[in-house]
Amino acid sequence: MQMDDSDNFGKMTEQELLEFDRAHIWHPYTSATKALKCYPVARADGVYIELMDGQRLIDGMSSWWSAIHGYNHPALNAAMTAQIGRMSHVMFGGLTHQPAVELAQLLIEIVPDGLEHVFFSDSGSVAVEVAMKMALQYWHSRSCGAKHAFVTVRHGYHGDTWHAMSVSDPDSGMHAIFNKNLAKQYFLPAPRSGFHAAYDPAETGEVEAFLRQHHEHIAAFILEPIVQGAGGMRFYHPEYLRQVRRLCTDYGILLIADEIATGFGRSGRLFACEHAAISPDIMCVGKALTGGCLTFAATLCTQEVAYTISDGAPGVFMHGPTFMANPLACATALASTRLLLKGDWQGNVARIEETLKERLLPLQRVDGVADVRVLGAIGVVEMREPVDVGRIQQRLVAEGVWLRPFGKLVYTMPPFIISPDELRTLCDGIGKVIAGLAGR
Ligand code: PMP
Repeated sequence: MQMDDSDNFGKMTEQELLEFDRAHIWHPYTSATKALKCYPVARADGVYIELMDGQRLIDGMSSWWSAIHGYNHPALNAAMTAQIGRMSHVMFGGLTHQPAVELAQLLIEIVPDGLEHVFFSDSGSVAVEVAMKMALQYWHSRSCGAKHAFVTVRHGYHGDTWHAMSVSDPDSGMHAIFNKNLAKQYFLPAPRSGFHAAYDPAETGEVEAFLRQHHEHIAAFILEPIVQGAGGMRFYHPEYLRQVRRLCTDYGILLIADEIATGFGRSGRLFACEHAAISPDIMCVGKALTGGCLTFAATLCTQEVAYTISDGAPGVFMHGPTFMANPLACATALASTRLLLKGDWQGNVARIEETLKERLLPLQRVDGVADVRVLGAIGVVEMREPVDVGRIQQRLVAEGVWLRPFGKLVYTMPPFIISPDELRTLCDGIGKVIAGLAGR
């Protein structure tokens, strides 16, 4: 019998591992020559990330919005293990399986009304590409080929693939670098009225004026509902979303809601569209879909969109990735979503929101802090100047806290299972480090 060496890591010392990593491996948004310090992780459990040197960090990021149940969750592990025993993967062309069907059934049940067709894909960016292709094929089928452009708002972020990038904020997405290859889209000003402020009806007028003039060329309006994530961590007024929905209907424009970051409870509602009581024509989910275990996403659309695409030429929707509806990912997503729904996620998110407000809002008074805002299980401290990510991370790690600040933003979206004590430790660590920045 062959030796099972599946867990046979550990031949490299921590030092060797870091040296090889630094010399040969790309990390997200980093340089190959001036790489940021990397922290080697040995394991993760619950709300803790354990480094190779044994230090345990409270995770304030949920691995970029995804690990809502924390790490190493027995229910998710059990679902994955059981599914591996049946099949980790099988192609979806001409075949189907229980995990995909049961997951689709559950998603259709819980998403906003009217979204009845599900396209499973590998990642958030791909789900956005799929959504944009659906919109284009919809208008193609209706012989409205002139409707080929997309409109969005500044400070948005939809992913790093080409079309997802084309509708992400032109400044933070560095459009200038990719100018010759990026599709030209329409950018409206970012929504101005904050979630908790009064809505300024002038915003509706601006959107309407634009759509009135350009609707003949616009296939879809794409935006992140309520929470703009990686493009600025901004929370905007539900009335803006409600008005965009109304105007899209009035002007014959599809509405794509990118719920990849907000989906599955993060903003205090299961889906952020619920804050405005609207249903989009197309919606993307990802990130927390598998509870952070596996890369996976879905694009949902209405029957009107699905049937129009299918009844036009070429009679099929032109997308079909190799790992579409990967059974392992579907089974994990099903387990994660069931786990979420059967637990008290609303109570947990409300509790997290309360503590984030109590502990982070006072930072507003600290020198160098421009704004502090909280919505659901998301807490944001916006500084006046960009932070030195490497330095601030080092200080946070010294406090036993894991965050990944960017630009002027120090923010947290912890796993929903974080205990009150752990959350207080997390917030106090953030507070201490931010106060320390003021005194540097
Ligand atoms: N849309 C939104 C709103 C996101 O936050 C992200 C990821 N940060 C994406 C799309 C892209 O998802 P992925 O990184 O899985 O491709």
